[in-house]
Amino acid sequence: MNKKTATAFALVIAALAIAAPTFLAIHLAKKEGLHAETGRALAYARDVLHRSNSTADQIYSGIKRLTEARSGDPCSDASLELMRQIDISSSYIQAIGYVSGERLMCSSLGRHGEGLYLGPVDLVTSTGSALRTRVELPFAKGNSFIVVERAGYAAIVHRDLPIDTTTSEKDVSLATFTPDNRQIRTSRGFVKPKWMDVLGDRPEATFFDSGYVVAVVKSNRYATGAIAALPVAHLEQRTRDVAMWLVPIGILAGTVLALAVLYLAKLQLAMPAVIRAALKRNEFFLVYQPIVELKSGKWVGAEALIRWRRPDGEMVRPDIFIQVAEDSGLIQLITERVIGIIGRDASNLFKRHPDFHIAINLSAADLQSRRTVELLHRLAGETGAGPGNLLVEATERGFLNADVARVLVRELRAGGIRVAIDDFGTGYSSLSYLEAFELDFLKIDKSFVDTVGTEAATSQVVLHIIEMAKGLKLEMIAEGVEQESQAQFLRDRGVQFAQGWLFGKPMALADLVGRLPGPADA
Ligand code: C2E
Ligand code: CA
Ligand code: CA
Repeated sequence: MNKKTATAFALVIAALAIAAPTFLAIHLAKKEGLHAETGRALAYARDVLHRSNSTADQIYSGIKRLTEARSGDPCSDASLELMRQIDISSSYIQAIGYVSGERLMCSSLGRHGEGLYLGPVDLVTSTGSALRTRVELPFAKGNSFIVVERAGYAAIVHRDLPIDTTTSEKDVSLATFTPDNRQIRTSRGFVKPKWMDVLGDRPEATFFDSGYVVAVVKSNRYATGAIAALPVAHLEQRTRDVAMWLVPIGILAGTVLALAVLYLAKLQLAMPAVIRAALKRNEFFLVYQPIVELKSGKWVGAEALIRWRRPDGEMVRPDIFIQVAEDSGLIQLITERVIGIIGRDASNLFKRHPDFHIAINLSAADLQSRRTVELLHRLAGETGAGPGNLLVEATERGFLNADVARVLVRELRAGGIRVAIDDFGTGYSSLSYLEAFELDFLKIDKSFVDTVGTEAATSQVVLHIIEMAKGLKLEMIAEGVEQESQAQFLRDRGVQFAQGWLFGKPMALADLVGRLPGPADA
């Protein structure tokens, strides 16, 4: 990645990081808000219905008491006394009395002489009550009452009682209606008569119409329904409030993320320069991981693995910087350094342990360059390495450019350096091109060793690899062996060598040498 693409990439990430969560959050806030608002509307409608039901309960229980107690004159002193008692004990009822024709003859307020004219009945409900929905009474001028009449008795209630509730938002529309004739009984705020129709046979419905979140409910006991509607202006305000918070947070988060991406991109871009400096300052060193003969458990060799310790003590993982070095054309400098370090480390080692080998990792570019052969041959000369003391490992990728690689492999082997194919099975191997090379070892990748003894679908692959290696007459080194059961399995199938934490982790040369038997005890 060059600087321009990296910057463009970072900017795109930043824009996405700002936009995506903000949009998502606003969308969610809207959805959540709509949900909450719908719930609120439903709660209001249920509350209105509840008050309306309670009112009806009080009315009908009052009327029932009066009809049950009736004997003779419905306006007797005893009747009036009962009416007063009912009135006082019923919080929703303004008055309760006896009706004859269209006149209220007497009530909890007393006898009304010729009777108070109530006007004609507006509607008879399905439950048999006669309703007058807009009655004015002389003793409460300016107020509008509902009169519910049944069996000659009538209760008087305030029209607005069911909807006379305090709401936390203003602009909340509330209404009660009579489902039988679809008439709004009482309402406040904007109410569309059409909303009553939405309910159908359902007890409750919520929907969105004309800029309102609407809830409609009806009673299963009385001929009463209730409507509550909240203007979405509330919702939009709430979404705006959420956005007010989210947008700056999104911008902040996006900026931080973009800076982080830029920083990482810069690090990545700067890495080659840092690797060069690290080579100059000798920040690289080698550790060695033992390779054992499975049959005897004897340490027969070690793989040299590079390590990078930054001046601040931080260790950079090889799978990170090796990749960068390969991409930026620095890998051959690293290989040269590895060979240089082994040159210093190995001469004594081979003298004292003539059968021991050191394995060196080569990258694809190394196998394309004659210089690698020269360096390795020089190393063999300097360290007095005999045939078999040095081994190189290259992945399948290293053999892809077959024409050059084949010649170099032949030259290496002619100089007594053996060759292993590394990480076998993870690349693009096909038998045919492997046959074209003269190789010595096949390293079975850790990922296949891991499947040994498991149910994994790939657990058969290791057996195929072993058969293939035998067919090609290659010796095998199994990588990443961590358990004795794996070692046992591999040993039983004829794998000659293994490497892994079961036998030893990568270690400093001194530790390795310290654990090899001296020539005397060998
Ligand atoms: P690799 O060549 O496959 O090396 C084996 C890796 O597996 C090493 O990781 C080693 O420490 C690790 N390993 C060995 N046994 C076990 C085990 O039992 N369990 C587990 N979990 N891991 C085990 P390391 O040293 O981090 O090296 C990573 C890769 O970096 C190497 O993979 C190799 O591709 C590359 N590398 C390391 N040193 C060099 C070098 O000098 N030159 C080049 N070109 N590449 C190198
Ligand atoms: Ca290797
Ligand atoms: Ca490997």
